[in-house]
Amino acid sequence: MMRPMKLGGEQIMFGQGCLEHLKTLSGKKACIVTGGNSMERSGILKKSESFLREAGMDVSVFTGVESDPTFQTVQRGATWMLKEKPDWIVGLGGGSAMDAAKAMWIFYEHPELKTMEDIMPPNEFPVLRKKAFLCCIPSTAGTASEVSRSIVISDNETGMKHGLGNMEMMPDVAICDPEVTVTLPAKITAETGMDAITHDLEALVSNRANSLSDILALGSFEMLVHNLPQVYEDLNNIRLREEVLKGAMIAGLAFTNVSLGIIHSMAHTIGGHFNIAHGLADAIILPYIIKYNRQSDYAVKKYKLAEDRLDGEPIENIIERMNAHMSIPDSFQSLIAEDDYMSALDELVAEAQIDGCTKTSPVIPDALGFKDLFIQIYYGE
Ligand SMILES: [Zn+2]
Repeated sequence: MMRPMKLGGEQIMFGQGCLEHLKTLSGKKACIVTGGNSMERSGILKKSESFLREAGMDVSVFTGVESDPTFQTVQRGATWMLKEKPDWIVGLGGGSAMDAAKAMWIFYEHPELKTMEDIMPPNEFPVLRKKAFLCCIPSTAGTASEVSRSIVISDNETGMKHGLGNMEMMPDVAICDPEVTVTLPAKITAETGMDAITHDLEALVSNRANSLSDILALGSFEMLVHNLPQVYEDLNNIRLREEVLKGAMIAGLAFTNVSLGIIHSMAHTIGGHFNIAHGLADAIILPYIIKYNRQSDYAVKKYKLAEDRLDGEPIENIIERMNAHMSIPDSFQSLIAEDDYMSALDELVAEAQIDGCTKTSPVIPDALGFKDLFIQIYYGE
């Protein structure tokens, strides 16, 4: 039986200038959670603060969420929130800042919970919104954390990335304003955009896909293929930024409902071991797994739906061309030392096998199959 579909929280806003929607939120105290200083430099942080003040709220800011947020940062943020007592939490930034805001929210609502394990299965996920609502404002067009039920939090000690999904974490308000993404450098624009395309293509062939998620994934894929290579050349073009940001958000609506596949399982484990940006890992792995999945008639049929939207060219060719255009390498050889990679192979395989995304892949490799794939994506065979 199908699972219920949930398309965002209470409100999804998109389009130039929609950051102003912050003025309409009602509450007493907002805590903004953000990453490095890019939001400060671009003036977006200041703008967000003043819109929230116009809404009649006091505002405090937590800065310095690292690019792979750790549980220690989450704890620090939650402790800070227990003092600040916000009724709105605003995640402003890339996937990391938004994921950290979501995780801090959980431990702020439930200070009796102490570890990531406390909120992971088989433990029950806690009820939120007794203290605060969550608003997310993405500064990258990729992870779609603003409309997703998931977070990825790293553990400093083990190097493990904990992926966790529950609809309770769906942000109440998503604000997708292209002006927030306009200062994003070319390399990050390319990598996060390819992450969004991977979300589309994995949601499309997920064994949980349905008619509605297909419409979202196909529509988003078309938008991203048409606009991502262009915005890479024309970073200040607000119209292109808007299309790519919308495309990434719509990809999020699809994948958060029907999940992903082994591209993400492999990208999670490679990212965790070798500190490779998530979107970059996805982009490199994507064409290999499209080819691998072609042993499934179901996947072939679904890929054809995407190809029919364009000019019928095999989508792996389109992806390879986009990667080359945006200077994304075609294997991991140039990014990770051979000895390090090969000596981690068994761990990579074991982690990919138990990753939450593996079970919805149209073709699920066994350990040996995974090993072959990991070797293939390293040497680029
Ligand atoms: Zn992703």
